[in-house]
Amino acid sequence: ALTIGIVGLPNVGKSTLFNALTRNDVLAANYPFATIEPNVGVVGVPDPRLTVLAGIFSSAKVVPATVSFVDIAGIVRGASEGQGLGNKFLANIREADAICQVIRAFTDPDVVHVDGKVSPADDIETINTELILADLDTVEKALPRLQKEARIQKDKVSVVAAVEAAQKVLEEGRTVFAAGLDPEPLRELHLMTAKPFLYVFNVDPGELANADFITSLRDLVAPADAVFLDAKTESELVELEPEEALELLQSMGVEESGLDQLAHLGFDTLGLQTYLTAGPKEARAWTIRRGATAPQAAGVIHTDFERGFIKAEVVSYADLVDAGSMAEAKSRGRVRIEGKDYVMADGDVVEFRFNV
Ligand code: GDP
Repeated sequence: ALTIGIVGLPNVGKSTLFNALTRNDVLAANYPFATIEPNVGVVGVPDPRLTVLAGIFSSAKVVPATVSFVDIAGIVRGASEGQGLGNKFLANIREADAICQVIRAFTDPDVVHVDGKVSPADDIETINTELILADLDTVEKALPRLQKEARIQKDKVSVVAAVEAAQKVLEEGRTVFAAGLDPEPLRELHLMTAKPFLYVFNVDPGELANADFITSLRDLVAPADAVFLDAKTESELVELEPEEALELLQSMGVEESGLDQLAHLGFDTLGLQTYLTAGPKEARAWTIRRGATAPQAAGVIHTDFERGFIKAEVVSYADLVDAGSMAEAKSRGRVRIEGKDYVMADGDVVEFRFNV
């Protein structure tokens, strides 16, 4: 499964956030047999459509899609040179599929800032510099070998060109992601700054509804996307009953908890989407890559389903809810038969037909 690595300077609220995420864990409820490492949090991606489907199909339970976060040891200046936990830290980031930077924007004078002052822009620069320096090191070590290989293997020529372009971007102090370079030919180098980035700004609760402040932070990281939350409040929210939590959120002028926003954004950043199945046993969201075909989608349920795929019966969520039942959707001609080349759309409600 794809994972998102959580990184940030010390004392910015990573542990607070991660603990809240794992308290929100759906693993215990739905995946009782999975064993998982303590630094991994598997978080449900809230999907109100599942509750509606469960109503239509009298499903016994609802199973949301999940996204996995990995808590990576705090970054420090000099990590790229192997300072502190540097090497382990870099190895952990290389394994992640996306990088979530937690940035301190809360002021609390009782919480020491490692660099003596709260400055989101400086902190982002510090983290990016470490990642950029580590990537530059990787690129400089790999280039001579790749150039040699390219003299015999013609398909390596384009890889060399891509790596040289990445080197230029990194030397300018930019990340490969922000520069918009194609990550595909760079894949074998596992560059950290070629991964998609997302940001969590840990802000004072009073600032969540301050549009100017939020915009100024958003501008720091564009084109990457960001979630704004108060980690302390989030850690309290997960302890509350859902109705109480909703009330607290509304009192802060927020519609969805920061953790839920983060689950959605993480899912999108990884390039994932869902399709839905429903029956008496469960209403469930299944995770696929955007652009996946019907047989690939079936393969997520069971590999045999992909091999034996015959066709898919597909109705859009909106059409199904409009009709009120599968039978009515069928009689309205809303249930389509799709073959093996069909590209799944978000919110497709599907039943697969297959040979076993
Ligand atoms: P980490 O080092 O990044 O994992 O940071 P921690 O989660 O351990 O938090 C460091 C300190 O900051 C702790 O004392 C937390 O209680 C405090 N803290 C974390 N998040 C917030 C926040 O949103 N607001 C305030 N005021 N303090 C926070």
